[in-house]
This record gives sequence, C-alpha cells and structure tokens, in this order.
Amino acid sequence: MTDWLELAKSKKTELFDLIEQLVMIETPTSDKAANDRISIFAADLLKAIGGEVTIHHQDEFGDHITADWSANSNNAATQHALVVGHLDTVWPLGTLERMGYTEKDGRLYGPGVLDMKAGIATTIIGLRTLREQGLWPNRPIKVLFNTDEEVGSPSSRPLVEESAKGAEYALVMEPGQAGAGALKTQRKGLGEFRLLVEGKASHAGAFPERGASAIHELSHRIIELQTMNDWPNGITVNTGIISGGSARNTIPAKAEAVIDVRVRTNEQAGEIESKIRALSPTIEGTTLTITGSFHRPPMERTPELAKLAGKLIGWSNDFGFELTEESTGGGSDANLTAAMGVPSADGMGSKGLNPHAEGENIQIGEQVNRLALFMKAINSL
Ligand SMILES: [Zn+2]
Repeated sequence: MTDWLELAKSKKTELFDLIEQLVMIETPTSDKAANDRISIFAADLLKAIGGEVTIHHQDEFGDHITADWSANSNNAATQHALVVGHLDTVWPLGTLERMGYTEKDGRLYGPGVLDMKAGIATTIIGLRTLREQGLWPNRPIKVLFNTDEEVGSPSSRPLVEESAKGAEYALVMEPGQAGAGALKTQRKGLGEFRLLVEGKASHAGAFPERGASAIHELSHRIIELQTMNDWPNGITVNTGIISGGSARNTIPAKAEAVIDVRVRTNEQAGEIESKIRALSPTIEGTTLTITGSFHRPPMERTPELAKLAGKLIGWSNDFGFELTEESTGGGSDANLTAAMGVPSADGMGSKGLNPHAEGENIQIGEQVNRLALFMKAINSL
C-alpha cells in the first residue's frame, strides 16, 4: 500500500522549488504579458507529464491553458477528473520586490503564495509524482489553469463550464479558508448590479421646482435595497459605491449606485434579482435603469458534494492531519463547476493566512499534507 505522506515528503524540495518559481513570476490579472509568461511555463510542465496541452488565446487577459490525459485502457472510467486553478493574483507588479519571498517560523511569505501559486505547484508536482510512480488512475484527467479568476473569470467562464461538463468530480485547488485551511463546501452566489437614476438639472436656489433630483431618488432606492438584506438566511445586499451630481447648487440630473448581492441558493438568487429589477422611482421626473446580473451562481452543499468532502476529510484523518469544512461568502470557479452539477471540492490547495493582504503566507508543513491528499484523491476517487 502506498504511504502517501511519505511519498509527498520525498517530493518536498521539488514542490517548494516550483512554488518559488511560480511566485517569482508576478501575475496581476490586468497584465496580459505576465500571465502569458506563466501560462507557457505551466503548459510546458504539464506537457512534460504527458498532458495534451491547449493554449486558449485571449485578447484582454492572459492565455488560459488546459491539459488532457486520456484513460489508458478499455475498462476505464468514462467520466473525467477536473482540476482547476488560477495563475493570476491580486498583487500589482513590484509587490515582490517590496514584500519579498521569505521563510519565517515554518511559514513562507510572498505575494500570491497562498492564493494560489502553492495550489498550482501542488497540482503539477502531484500529477508528475503519480505518473512517475505508476499511480495514475484509470480515468481521463483534465487540468484547467485560467488567468482571470481574481476578477470573476469573465473570459474563462465558458471554458470552466465546458471543462466541467460530464466530469465525475472537480478539485478546485484554491487555498482553504484562511486560518483552519478548511474545505469550502458552500459558497455564496455573487451578483453585481448597477442602478442609474436620471432626473432633471435645475438651479437649486432659483428654480428648484423645475428639477428632479436623481440623488434624492437614489437615496430612497438605497434604503429600499437595504431592506432586502436577510443575513440569517445568507442574503446580503450592499450598496458599495455611489456617485452623482455635478455641482453644489445644481439639482442633480444623474446618480448611480453599484450593488453587491450574495445568496446561498439559486432560488434566493432568482427572488432577489426580480426584486431589484422591479425597483421603480417615486420622485416625479426621475427614471431608473437597472443593469447587472449574478455572475457566479451559488455553490450549494449537495449530498454529492458533502460525500466528496467527507472522503477527503477521512483520508486527511488517516494521514494524521486535520481537515474541516466551512461555508464562505466569497466566490471562486468552484461556483461554476458546481453549477454544472459536478461535485466540487474547493480549498484543498494550501493552508495559510492573509489571502489578498499584507503578510500572505502558507504553512510549510501543511503543504506536504496537501500534496499527499491531492495525490490520494486523484489516485482513488
Ligand atoms: Zn484564488
């Protein structure tokens, strides 16, 4: 029987060398050239493990890549395993120079190390090791690395959905919930809406009666939006940005709000969306234009998803380390794979602190555990 933890330990140097190489290539989502560089780098590594690599060229974002391995015999499983990760980070170029890449007290610090260069490295080293050791599973495998996840996967969404179609399961190698490093077994659906109010400008002192205040109208609608919050049931509606008006002494002709909406279930998403679309003005002379949608569907904790998480947690316990599960308000590509009906395990990638924040880090010892778990999962699921 394979000792997965021992096997992972024997790959520690290889794993951390690759994490370092990936962190050294800074990849803010907005920088296409930087993301293209890391895509090619990762594509070459996947090719070397025998993957059939496709580069999905993009105009605005970095190129996304997929790698496919077919099953090796006739009585193979027909449904594929999907592994998903993103190569982009939230950190602008130059952060590495300022923040550095350092080891301290059993942790590695660096921009993007937790979210999610360590998860990318774990995927590559894990697959390479399974290949070398003859532990490759008898099922097709697909790996997808995209470069626009941090802005909501606008260009890669169709590719994520296409890749998930017909998959047996998906492992989304994002970091675990900050702190415990828990699997994320429930993710909220995320919507962004814009509310544009148009009124009529007029001199505020001389002819107030000729105007229609867009700001006044917007204020009413913001209060109405606020009442749609239902925190106990997981619905949050936040007017996060407002703008409007042109001068202190002019009745404002325009005002706009940007609204963040999060829900637990598809049903809630439908309800809230229709409530927002039904908003109507009460200040005479003003009109509303409502745009936006839910761009990430909720990831519900279905029985299939719970079963997958249960297996991963069980194996972790066998290896002697603790893995838990939590729900989160944040979204990831797991929302997309789960919405395709694919049981999705999100948050296996690493354990650390401060994603998207100063002092971002991973726990070094835990990364080896995560590698063991990844290999066991791909081998046995
Ligand atoms: Zn991430």
